[in-house]
Amino acid sequence: MKITDIRTAIVAGNFPWNLIRVYTDVGLVGLGEAYWGPGVTDVVEKIKTRLVGKDPMEVDKLWTHMMQSLSGDGTVAGTIVAAISGVEIALLDIVGKRLKTPVYQLLGGKFRDRVRVYADSHARSLREVDDWRKRAVQVRERGFDAIKFDLDSIAPELQPDRYNRALSGKYIRRMVEVVAAISETLGPDIDLALDCHWSYNVGDAIRLAQALEPFPLLWLEDPTPPDNADAMARVCAATRTPICTGENLYTRHGMRPFIEKGACHIIQPDIPRCGGLLESKRIADLADMHYIPFAAHNVCSPVGTVASAHVGAAIRTFLVLEFHSQDIPWWDAMVGRGDDPLIKNGYLALSDAPGLGVELDDDLCRQHVLPGTLYFGESAPGRSV
Ligand SMILES: [Mg+2]
Repeated sequence: MKITDIRTAIVAGNFPWNLIRVYTDVGLVGLGEAYWGPGVTDVVEKIKTRLVGKDPMEVDKLWTHMMQSLSGDGTVAGTIVAAISGVEIALLDIVGKRLKTPVYQLLGGKFRDRVRVYADSHARSLREVDDWRKRAVQVRERGFDAIKFDLDSIAPELQPDRYNRALSGKYIRRMVEVVAAISETLGPDIDLALDCHWSYNVGDAIRLAQALEPFPLLWLEDPTPPDNADAMARVCAATRTPICTGENLYTRHGMRPFIEKGACHIIQPDIPRCGGLLESKRIADLADMHYIPFAAHNVCSPVGTVASAHVGAAIRTFLVLEFHSQDIPWWDAMVGRGDDPLIKNGYLALSDAPGLGVELDDDLCRQHVLPGTLYFGESAPGRSV
């Protein structure tokens, strides 16, 4: 079996979803997705010249070839690694189809039949406490028992200088007030996570994390910037609030200092961004040596989400997978699951179909192609993201 072609499509969801198909000379086609960063499809074009003619069964060898041959383009971090991740997912889909086995089986087999999912609820436009309460109820009623909100956008008007990473006492009090309302509304049986998007200095991040200690949070995410593991470790050491990080880090090398220096209580890589499925397994194993659980950041279409769920099933220490598209009504229909949603009552159940177990509804996806881009080489109507 040989790779004959690699093509891409960008579907305009709540993010531009970078979909990838790898074609073979035996008719098998692998489906993958890379994180939404710009330029991914250009990188995949470059990858194509390296992989056509190669055996898609040699996944780790091809991953290594991509990482090595594109190292000058930037395989330490960024769009290049994201593109390689998406291609690796498509290769594993081919291997699963060829061997007639699900991808989780290629990762060592599953620990669980269904993967717990948390609903990212962002809610950046909300300003009143009652609006936060209503949004919390809306998400809970969709069946999720783990929910995340953006904490850093609760009241930007209370942070007069958005560049200096400082928090005022007034802003922290407002955050605590809103979190108290959300927490009370959700009740003790719903896990609540809060995202800070790398916004604060160490001292203010500690003040915030300590102020949130009365609430039994699932985690506080990215309180300080992603560049300095020592700084985030100081936050971790100073609070009972669990700290989570990882979505802005790449490969096991990027995660290593955060895992080894005690800079997180939970590691949360973005699987179709950080290096792919096998690399995520390696990251989970490294974290497991420090008794750090693994969550998965995710902003993908059903393709990347299901790919991430295969990893979630196959990792012993897996905690929870993000779902970021509750406001996209055609999300399930993209893979023909419009009447049978992939996520039910906060869990994604994996099928035992070969490969990833999902295929695109091409007619529907063509309607949502990013304008000015091709749909796997064909022109399509599309619409704006
Ligand atoms: Mg985040």
